Amino acid sequence: MDFNALLERELAHTASCGLRRQLGGPLPAHVVNYSSNDYLGLSTHPALLTAAQHALQQATGAGAARLVGGDRAEHHALEAALAHFKGTEAALLFGSGYQANVGAISALVGPDDAVYSDALNHASIIDGCRLSGAAIHVYRHADPQHLAELLSAGAGYRRRLVITESVFSMDGDQAPLVAIAQLARVHDAALMVDEAHASGLYGPSGAGLLRATGVCAEVQLVTLGKALGGFGGAVLGRRALIDLLINRARTFIFTTALPPVVCTNALAALRLAAGTLGDQLRLQLFVNAAQLHRGLVALGLRSPATPPSPILPLLAGTPERSLTATHALLDRGCFVQAIRPPTVPQGTSRLRLTASAAHTPEQLDTLLAALAHLVRADLLPTLSPR
Ligand SMILES: *Cc1c(COP(=O)(O)O)cnc(C)c1O
Repeated sequence: MDFNALLERELAHTASCGLRRQLGGPLPAHVVNYSSNDYLGLSTHPALLTAAQHALQQATGAGAARLVGGDRAEHHALEAALAHFKGTEAALLFGSGYQANVGAISALVGPDDAVYSDALNHASIIDGCRLSGAAIHVYRHADPQHLAELLSAGAGYRRRLVITESVFSMDGDQAPLVAIAQLARVHDAALMVDEAHASGLYGPSGAGLLRATGVCAEVQLVTLGKALGGFGGAVLGRRALIDLLINRARTFIFTTALPPVVCTNALAALRLAAGTLGDQLRLQLFVNAAQLHRGLVALGLRSPATPPSPILPLLAGTPERSLTATHALLDRGCFVQAIRPPTVPQGTSRLRLTASAAHTPEQLDTLLAALAHLVRADLLPTLSPR
């Protein structure tokens, strides 16, 4: 059979499972986005657009990898600022958070080692673990008890690394960092925490959940693409960690350095996010998240027991039901992305609703009214039948 005909067949099968993904194009101007990770609204902030314009007059690209002539002052300035922001000794930039996870994990552990990974960790963590060749032990989501059992059972490895997100990307809940860090210490394992959805949002100056909880991790990861509104990723920790990654992380070594303009923009975003404007935006974000959460609880779509988080998933169950709900909301001017397997486990397809500091109270009311319509039309299941 012809190669492309085989691909068509595979796509048709994916579609028959309700799992085919398609690019939707830019949202029409009248549609409001309620699914973005641009939690603070920084990606379109006027001060940052001006900083980017100035930087673009210097260069559009770095021209090579960092180790072969692409190293720029902007990379070092941003790394120093990120390390200061997180309170670590050093930082290393990567092309994205995805590349940072894949490169760091596969550089830090190998076939003689073991990783202990939360069941709901991001795909980039899963891929890094697989690529490393280390033994992979998956513990039940946010379950220190299970992690303790696995750590106690495994011995004879050269090195052990516990990996968790701090704020989980698809559920918005928080890892029990204090308990996990204590277990790692007791069992002589290192801890790696992915702060992709916590950086800029939680803790003093938005430094993240590690700072907020006073927990130390040997390896930290941030992305510049979410609350910081830009693009890129970084790993943070002690100087020895960063020097080892410069020597071993293949997604750092064998790829073109971030364009200097991206770094200039991220540096400006970081200054803004860590300052008083950042405090105001964080306050507004959590006020908006609380308003959404209250409305969703009133509709029976979220449990009052779960604390409000900027990430508020609404379970639809099947891929088809989540897609139908997304389309019905779009008809009402609201974009809320359907998230299906393999991004989330089977049976937990959902709408991934996120609050932003940029949402107005009226926009949140519009969304809640649209969701109320879906509930009445039986297009979105409530938590308990009412
Ligand atoms: C988004 C995300 C990443 C990847 O970051 P990018 O910069 O978008 O590549 C890594 N980890 C987690 C938990 C994420 O949610």
